[in-house]
Amino acid sequence: MTTTQPLTDQQFLQRLAEQAGKDGTKTFAVTSPATGQTVVDVADCNADHARDAVERSVKAFDNWRKVNPYERSRLLLAWYDAIMAHQDAIGKIISAEMGKPVSEARGEVAYAAAFVQFYGEEAKRIRGETFSSQFSHKRLYAERMPVGPVYAITPWNFPAAMITRKVAPALAAGCTAIVKPAAQSPLTAVFLAYLWEQVGGPADALSVLTTRDARGVSEVMFDDVRIRKLTFTGSTSVGRSLYAQAAKTLKKVSLELGGHAPFLIFDDADLDLAVNEVIACKFRNAGQTCVCTNRVYVQKGIADAFTQKLVERVAELKVGDPANDATEIGPLVDAAGLEKVQSHVKDAVNKGAQLHIGGNANELYYEPTVLTDVRAGMQILEEETFGPVAPIILFDTEEEAIHQANDTPYGLAAYMYTNDLRRMHRVSEALEYGIVGVNDGGPSAAQAPFGGIKDSGLGREGGHWGLDEFLEVKYVSVGLREPA
Ligand code: NAP
Repeated sequence: MTTTQPLTDQQFLQRLAEQAGKDGTKTFAVTSPATGQTVVDVADCNADHARDAVERSVKAFDNWRKVNPYERSRLLLAWYDAIMAHQDAIGKIISAEMGKPVSEARGEVAYAAAFVQFYGEEAKRIRGETFSSQFSHKRLYAERMPVGPVYAITPWNFPAAMITRKVAPALAAGCTAIVKPAAQSPLTAVFLAYLWEQVGGPADALSVLTTRDARGVSEVMFDDVRIRKLTFTGSTSVGRSLYAQAAKTLKKVSLELGGHAPFLIFDDADLDLAVNEVIACKFRNAGQTCVCTNRVYVQKGIADAFTQKLVERVAELKVGDPANDATEIGPLVDAAGLEKVQSHVKDAVNKGAQLHIGGNANELYYEPTVLTDVRAGMQILEEETFGPVAPIILFDTEEEAIHQANDTPYGLAAYMYTNDLRRMHRVSEALEYGIVGVNDGGPSAAQAPFGGIKDSGLGREGGHWGLDEFLEVKYVSVGLREPA
């Protein structure tokens, strides 16, 4: 049952503060990047807690897999209602723990909840297949079964959505899940699990391990053969190492990794649309998004007009306290993140890039920045910047644009702006990416496949593809021959 009076963010924090350390578990402080102050202390789980979570998850799996899919669906949809009833409170918690502007954080909650709703509906639609045999006395079919207990590791940049994108399809499929959220943003994960229990979801079907010992906790999961799947969102370097570790117990693996999205704007594009969408695509979450564009390619004929309009719009962006409803750009998540952004801009300027606006930091706040004369050999074109910096690169021909867009080890998202239908097909087919937005800078949706190729990962989240990642196929052959 949903609580009649939704908790406020302060009531939720109060609950956490009362619980912290009560059972003797050590705690750690979650701090706000905006203020540097402690938001609240949470449990610092260790390997023993991880082993206990595995035991509970394995036991819960035995029951949860047998729960009727219509009941699983009902619980997921009740969870969706509870999340939406707490949209404001969860949004404020996201904002407090990792600095996302609160209005954007509320949007993330709705996006996160959409996965719970979608997979709540899909839970009833897990289908098998029958197929014919060359032998008349046989009947053949394939059914789908849950893969087993799942271990999910999530990053700090989308503390709600990266969890529901994994956990909702896992629960819909009949799997149980153990989530290890990023140490920087564990509060949202705890909030989501609390709501799951509030609506009657079995507690051990979804556990959260908040910890500063990601490695120690994860080793327990990698060593235990009963954890049948790793689903990870984070950096390519960590993903690569987890992939190798998961091989020990041959787990099924999904990896949502880094990106380096090109944004191609052709001479025939609608300029105002392209400018507005670069703003939305580049600057949301202060540029700390895996699908944020990191390279804006503009055809030479419109380059000056585009740059002028972009700089004007960037100048209007409101940087400030993420708790303020009007804020559009909050702080970066931490000092390491800021240092990376600063070093990319410095490297580009040292190598000849022109700074049109921005380029300064105040504590963890980095001004939205536009660079032109960006060219090959600059760090910003090779590594994820994860900050509010738009580098503009000029091109002459379609071929040149495609070549430069694909010239990266990453393959997550790409964007292209054109009004020419033939070009739209030619270019989108040539882009080596898992996601292409055509005149659309925000293509993500719960019902659509999200994921990358090359160094951007393995597998897909969202849509029926996302559910398949948590299902195994069981083939059954039935012999009908009468006894002799
Ligand atoms: P990260 O450093 O790879 O961390 C991601 C998660 O992995 C965190 O929970 C982290 O825990 C954990 N982790 C780190 N080292 C580990 C280890 N040795 N063993 C087990 N777990 C470990 O990435 P991030 O900086 O948080 O997130 C940003 C990255 O995520 C960017 O590269 C971004 O592109 C990517 N991302 C991709 C997608 C996508 O869908 N493709 C979506 C969002 C973000 P701690 O917090 O405790 O270190």
